[in-house]
Amino acid sequence: MVRTRFAPSPTGYLHIGGARTALYSWLYARKMKGIFILRIEDTDLERSTPESVQAILDGMAWLNLDYDEGPFYQTKRFDRYREVVAEMLAKGAAYRCYCSKERLEALREAQIANKEKPRYDGHCRHLTQASDGPFVVRFKNPEQGVVEFDDLIRGKLTFANTELDDLIIARSDGTPTYNFTVVVDDIDMEISHVVRGDDHINNTPRQINIFRALEKTPPHYAHLPMILGSDGKRLSKRHGAASVMQYREEGILPQALLNYLVRLGWSHGDQEIFSMEELIQLFDLHGVNRAPAALNPEKLLWLNQHYMKHGDVAFTMKELAWHMAQLNINTNDGPPLADIIAAQSERTKTLREMAERSRFFYEEIVLSDEMRAQISVEIIPAIQKVCEKLEKLSEWEKTKIHEILVAAAEEAGLKLGKLAQPIRIAVTGGTISPPLDLTIQLIGRERVIKRLQKIFKQG
Ligand code: GLU
Repeated sequence: MVRTRFAPSPTGYLHIGGARTALYSWLYARKMKGIFILRIEDTDLERSTPESVQAILDGMAWLNLDYDEGPFYQTKRFDRYREVVAEMLAKGAAYRCYCSKERLEALREAQIANKEKPRYDGHCRHLTQASDGPFVVRFKNPEQGVVEFDDLIRGKLTFANTELDDLIIARSDGTPTYNFTVVVDDIDMEISHVVRGDDHINNTPRQINIFRALEKTPPHYAHLPMILGSDGKRLSKRHGAASVMQYREEGILPQALLNYLVRLGWSHGDQEIFSMEELIQLFDLHGVNRAPAALNPEKLLWLNQHYMKHGDVAFTMKELAWHMAQLNINTNDGPPLADIIAAQSERTKTLREMAERSRFFYEEIVLSDEMRAQISVEIIPAIQKVCEKLEKLSEWEKTKIHEILVAAAEEAGLKLGKLAQPIRIAVTGGTISPPLDLTIQLIGRERVIKRLQKIFKQG
């Protein structure tokens, strides 16, 4: 049975690198009809925050990456870690180390002076008697041989044990350390496949040694290449939105973000658009690229527009309603959001932009002097005519509205555009909107008449 996990440390937001790791891990579990687990690695008490835990949970929920088990919190498992530390001490797989800070510091300095890699020298490894005083617990890493594993993405990797020192598994206050808790959890949660960023690749041989010391079979590993900024440099804050929820605020749909993320490091021919069902079917860890993937913001916008146009309307409506609320636009009085999506998705790339550009459908407009100046006096009689006809129009519908506009322009000897743009300004307050007939239909008769009257009544 395939069992995967996403194991973020809650020391910041869920960023897109983490989201991609979660997605790959989730997809693989779904594909294999396995189990996906969420585990919060919050043992670093100084850097972990409840806000960050919440941000991770929110991000996962928004992306709809559901987990079958968890969230498990490492801070709630300290008793279990203590138990395993005791077990390892008892069977001689770990030992107490009483070395003082000063000794370790001097050792380190001497090694650096000798151009050696700083590492613990095993001083306490062979002590036969327990001493008094504070101690840490170290893992007895094998002194010889190699650790070899077949990474599903990187292929065979080999590390010499002489490169690995006896890492601390419990600090002097008894708290467990990172590489150790990961192994205990991966064992207890029966993880079959560890999918994580390749920044962890050097931890893997240490973890495999701990697995073996505990007489457990290590899982399969898949280390994902990093994500680079669009400039090819390592991803950082400079590259704009990095947290998943910031993408939401910018008006990206989760389906678009998932589709974008999956392609950062995996492909299927040159297919760009994938439904979730397709991904579950097609995705495979073996197919993940070894090379780092670079962000491509234009691609994300393109995908987003695709999902705004063709995605699940009910879902897009919910997201759009969220954006409207963010912008304090009350959408109770005005066209249904589904109509806004149909009208605006052709000319907007994000839901945020769509919401910003749709205020005039729901709220009174303010015509700036600059806009007002674009409606010339000669046009006003034609605007008045249009208004009168609209007032009497029996069926409030865009083709009928269109006919009125065409007829009025013809009568006034104007090109349609020459009349349409001032009317657009009059009814929307700006120069950008969906086709005017549709815009008028959606704004609704009462508001349109009032806005047009304002123009010619003021003269
Ligand atoms: N907690 C680690 C991190 O956030 C991930 C550990 C793992 O996946 O093994 O980088």
